Amino acid sequence: MASITVKELAQTVGTPVETLMQQLKEAGIEVSSGDDVLTNEQKQTLLAHLRKSHGGDAEATPRRITLKRKEKTTLKVGIGSKKTTVNVEVRKKRTFVKRSAAELKAQAEAEAEAKVQPSDLPANETTEAAPEVTAAQAQGGESGSATSAPEVMAAEENTATQMPTESASGTESPATPQPQAAPAASDADKPADEPADNETELSPEEIAAAEAARLKAEKARKDKKKEKEKEKEKKKEHESKKHAGKKRKAKKPHWDDDEEFVEELINKPKKKSKKAAPSALQHGFSKPSAPVIREVTIPESITVGELAQKMAIKGAELIKQLMKMGVMATINQPLDQETAVLVTEELGHIPKPVNQDAIEEDVLSTVESQEGEALPRPPVVTIMGHVDHGKTSLLDYIRNSQVAAKEAGGITQHIGAYHVKTEHGGITFLDTPGHAAFTAMRARGANVTDIVVLIVAADDGVMPQTIEAIQHAKAANVPLIVAVNKIDKPEADPDRVKNELSQHDVIPEEWGGDVQFVHVSAKTGQGIPELLEAISLQAELLELKASASGPAKGTIIEARLDKGQGPVASVLVQSGTLRKGDILLAGLHFGRVRAMKDEYGRAVKEAGPSMPVEVLGLSGVPDAGDEAIVVPDERKAREVAQFRQQKAREAKLARQQKAKLENMFKSMEEGEVHELPLLIKADVQGSVEALTDALTKLSTDEIRVRVVSSGVGAITETDANLAAASNAIIIGFNVRADGAARKVIENHGLDLRYYSVIYDVVDEVKAAMTGMLAPEFKQEIIGLAEVRQVFRVPKLGAVAGCMVLEGVVRRSNPIRVLRDNVVIFEGELDSLRRFKDDVNEVRAGMECGIGVKNYNDIKVGDQIEVFETVEVKRSL
Ligand code: GDP
Ligand code: MG
Repeated sequence: MASITVKELAQTVGTPVETLMQQLKEAGIEVSSGDDVLTNEQKQTLLAHLRKSHGGDAEATPRRITLKRKEKTTLKVGIGSKKTTVNVEVRKKRTFVKRSAAELKAQAEAEAEAKVQPSDLPANETTEAAPEVTAAQAQGGESGSATSAPEVMAAEENTATQMPTESASGTESPATPQPQAAPAASDADKPADEPADNETELSPEEIAAAEAARLKAEKARKDKKKEKEKEKEKKKEHESKKHAGKKRKAKKPHWDDDEEFVEELINKPKKKSKKAAPSALQHGFSKPSAPVIREVTIPESITVGELAQKMAIKGAELIKQLMKMGVMATINQPLDQETAVLVTEELGHIPKPVNQDAIEEDVLSTVESQEGEALPRPPVVTIMGHVDHGKTSLLDYIRNSQVAAKEAGGITQHIGAYHVKTEHGGITFLDTPGHAAFTAMRARGANVTDIVVLIVAADDGVMPQTIEAIQHAKAANVPLIVAVNKIDKPEADPDRVKNELSQHDVIPEEWGGDVQFVHVSAKTGQGIPELLEAISLQAELLELKASASGPAKGTIIEARLDKGQGPVASVLVQSGTLRKGDILLAGLHFGRVRAMKDEYGRAVKEAGPSMPVEVLGLSGVPDAGDEAIVVPDERKAREVAQFRQQKAREAKLARQQKAKLENMFKSMEEGEVHELPLLIKADVQGSVEALTDALTKLSTDEIRVRVVSSGVGAITETDANLAAASNAIIIGFNVRADGAARKVIENHGLDLRYYSVIYDVVDEVKAAMTGMLAPEFKQEIIGLAEVRQVFRVPKLGAVAGCMVLEGVVRRSNPIRVLRDNVVIFEGELDSLRRFKDDVNEVRAGMECGIGVKNYNDIKVGDQIEVFETVEVKRSL
């Protein structure tokens, strides 16, 4: 058992027999042929010799070996005529304590591995040296190396930077700790040539071990050819990076055992299949049982799926753990930071919560720091003025005269702004005229406009919205240019306009002020060139500048969701240059700029300062006035966007909490609320009066019920806005909110309640006021269908051909018929059909035939609302 022939040894080691014989001779061991048997002693002698010849320590068996984590060594590999020096980097620190020959071997193996892998790098000789090592590794693997967690982590860290080989070495080391002693027996015997090579760097024990390893490897090889082959494949992957290295049969990292780890090493998904080393399993080796501990960065919000991915575990596993902690979550559900940190700890990883404010600032500041030299840029102009004074006409005239002339045939498209070239330079007009757009943007902190052109009809003079426009411009500190329009009209009186404007502190230049007045006609085009010149002059005075280099920064002027193209956003670039392919972060959304178009729908590759472009590729629809900024990478963009989305959700939630009836009592107790504002809409005046009366009477010393507004008919957008402004709860009595109102209600998180019994309203408000709002049976609207056609069927009466707009229409549920959002009938369904078949339910987007029981007055345009009564549990 302890003996091995020279040939066998050579084979094990992967060295030519002659080389081995030569080395044996040098070591003073007489061998005459490859069939000679080497004893253990002889092997030791060979080892010692090799060690010496490489300047190594002669002492055969040190008791301790310490490998440092980052050790750069040189490995001379010499086999036959080939000599190569290999740089080896060992990035582990391990101390091996020699306990027995077997252990030694194991250590040697480990070390050998470490070195061998590096050897992959150099082209040739490695081949020979390597085999031994690999063998060793293989064994190590078998032994079921116990990897301690920290080691693994270290290894992981390494992986990132190291070349594949190195990482492999890192991995191996864990395996080394005392492999099974059993196979060891034979090792001691015969040194191989290769050991010599390795020894240069290896300590004596290592060498001995290496030998042992080789021997084992031999055996192993036979057994596990298949495994090795697989492993080789892996290696090849690694090697391929460095050079088309020779394939060593022996070299197999045993880290295959640890799939995750391998994944980390390889760092890409595809390899998984290869990694999953069946070999280890086949041979009954136990997997390293210690878990891989990861540092998991945890943003303020992370979905279950993302977190699982960060920990490299299956989503289901994470969900299971969450369930154990009493958190029910789906894979796409966002977790708050606290929960994510807890569950990460629970799973034995190290959570690293990150502050996303910092990330956002970081992203923005990097972008800012890259701004280049500021150069003159075109002005951005907004046209404001009273309704019908000619804003649209003026914009159209300028665009058509200045632009269409040059771009003959170009079809202008509305992208929120357009750019014209004049003799005096370019000018960008925002073509969403009016104060609303201007103010809405300013309210969001976006100061896009450089110059306001105030348009005043010469035949009409200063009107309320003219004054408003002046105020807006002054508030924004934006200079004005007055365009006195409709000068072509006989009744035009420009002097009157001047007079009236001067009363509002808009003083013309000729009167010693600083405001340019230009007489124009948007109809004839008179004065338009002068107006453009005046704008350019004003722009010069303003010395508008921006850097055209560096990542783009701008503002969303408009955005919409296009059915075919997805989110479409118009961006006014304010500095830098926006290019196709850039990662754009806009408000709560982000995305790679897939396409850019100008106002003629032409594809453009880039847009510099003051240029408006329409951008495709965002993940969602941003708001007008949102800042748009190009960030270096998508991951950062996503992080910031998610962070902002979470902030927005929280803000909305906070708003919602404020105005909920349920929270009334709580707020009262906290001394916040002394009145309960209500907005009441009902189907008939009688109900309005009855409700107002009954509810106002509920007022107590502590709390006053105040009806902010009441009226007959559907709940409109105006109602909703009023409720939002006064924090009122909306009560719809037999009426519904229309589409626009629902949007406002949704946005502001208003509390909207529908009732059909006065007693219910009074009861609930009373309960809320006394904090007794008990579990409530609430009627929840589950579906809405619109009547498109009405058929008269002899036996059934009226059948309504409907389109289901929302939710689901269920035959068994109660319904209401709405006309103009007012309830006109309540009852149940007689029939529900899809084509000719009776069905139980029909979902949104489908057509169906509905017969309402005992009701035949249904009309086209009516809506059928399907509801069910559910119990709403109160959290209070
Ligand atoms: P806006 O409400 O400010 O956008 O005003 P519009 O551009 O819609 O113009 C209102 C009306 O005034 C339209 O009927 C235009 O044809 C007319 N109009 C606009 N500018 C002129 C102009 O310079 N001369 C004359 N005669 N009519 C004009
Ligand atoms: Mg208009």
